[in-house]
Amino acid sequence: MKVTFPHMGTVAIPLKAFFRTLGVEVIEPPPITDKTISLGSRYSPEFACLPLKINVGNYLEAYERGADTIIMAGGVGPCRFGYYAQVQREILADLGIKYEMIVLEPPRGHLWQTLGQLWQLAGRASPARIWQAGRLAWAKLVLLDRLDRLAARTRCREKNRGETGELYRQALSWIDAAANLPAVAAVERRIRAAFEEVEVWDITPLRVGLVGEIYTVLEPAANLNIERFLGELGVEVERGIYLGDWVIAHLFLDALRLRKDRRLMEEIAAPYLGHFVGGHGLENISQTIEYARRGFAGVIHIGPLTCMPEIVAKTILPQVSRDWDIPAFSFLLDEHTGEVGLQTRLEAFIEMLRARAEKGTGLNLSGS
Ligand code: SF4
Repeated sequence: MKVTFPHMGTVAIPLKAFFRTLGVEVIEPPPITDKTISLGSRYSPEFACLPLKINVGNYLEAYERGADTIIMAGGVGPCRFGYYAQVQREILADLGIKYEMIVLEPPRGHLWQTLGQLWQLAGRASPARIWQAGRLAWAKLVLLDRLDRLAARTRCREKNRGETGELYRQALSWIDAAANLPAVAAVERRIRAAFEEVEVWDITPLRVGLVGEIYTVLEPAANLNIERFLGELGVEVERGIYLGDWVIAHLFLDALRLRKDRRLMEEIAAPYLGHFVGGHGLENISQTIEYARRGFAGVIHIGPLTCMPEIVAKTILPQVSRDWDIPAFSFLLDEHTGEVGLQTRLEAFIEMLRARAEKGTGLNLSGS
């Protein structure tokens, strides 16, 4: 069995650690490029959402490298994620590609099925080895979230443009290479020391929340490197979703029905949206209100074009924005979205936020 999985941000790093510790051979798809996106788009239905198309591109490229088994997450709810796996299976079958597909359904309601699938994947690995694999993957996941937050805090203050981005790329390779828990701890110390060395301005950056559909928020190839672009404009970006937080909430707390944040989120969003609409539609409303309460300058909302939950959120956000006095910019992306067009609109939005904030605070928020 040669296992592959779709990219989504940095998720490949903990997944590789998990499967390789179990002795499963992993074929990682090459990094997402224009070729990946155009391959996936060519063979996917035109109105499919962008993540599905990029996933297909990943599978085709991993297949060329010898992968024979796909592991992917399943989904429930009103959006199309619930039948992603079936559509992708059909696309690959029509192309004559023989892939085994293992779909891990969300543990809530499928806990034993999911554990059974993981057990099957683990092959002959002992429980101790499975525990070791899980702990290593988890440690990397936690460190990746810390790295993302550290990079966001540093990038908007850096004196030498691009230094944080370069360090971030190196740090990813250090985390990827760490073979065990002590090595992960050593890498964390190394990362913190390296970030201390980055020369920064003593400024108060504009703070912006980035909310939206999970794949487009986490995957730079899908969001056209929005976090890096905003950071290098001198904006401190906080995401509404970090991978580790999402895993805790959806894989553990949801499965055990212990998610208090879901009830809170529903209460906050209730005046605008009274029920779950799939994806992150509801979260986006409550997170925008939370960012307003915390004094953020604005919110950027992104998602794939044709994504139903994000279309619902996009329709509601102008009212939330007026009621809570927080500017919100929504942008839906597909494979035709041009980087320069997006950046021009972001620059205009950020300029507006700066003018607004300077008027309100008297501070100079123009960044470095
Ligand atoms: S949340 Fe949006 S992008 Fe994701 S599967 Fe559902 S419709 Fe597609």
